[in-house]
Amino acid sequence: MDRAIAPNEAAVVRWLLDHAPVGDVTACRIHPVEELRVVKGCDCGCASLDFQPHAWGGAGEIVLLEIYDCHPGASHGFPEISNLWSFKEGGRWSFKEGGRDLQ
Ligand SMILES: [Zn+2]
Repeated sequence: MDRAIAPNEAAVVRWLLDHAPVGDVTACRIHPVEELRVVKGCDCGCASLDFQPHAWGGAGEIVLLEIYDCHPGASHGFPEISNLWSFKEGGRWSFKEGGRDLQ
């Protein structure tokens, strides 16, 4: 596999950079997200994407997008931005209620 990143995938990567709780991600913005190439999906069937072979890259390079399904009823598909929550918002999310029920 070697294809251009799809617009919805690029939008999710941009959203993640905008909401990253891990510190300064300025170096990850040097190359436009739209220029990422998808070189591999995950063998387990999840929607994770590799942007570099073997997930190796240099400083500031986005090498993969790991996607975890945390709910038994999850679609196992690529997420929509409307379904993403920042780390801060996640604290208000209720698994018990099955999703978007703000407490
Ligand atoms: Zn997987």
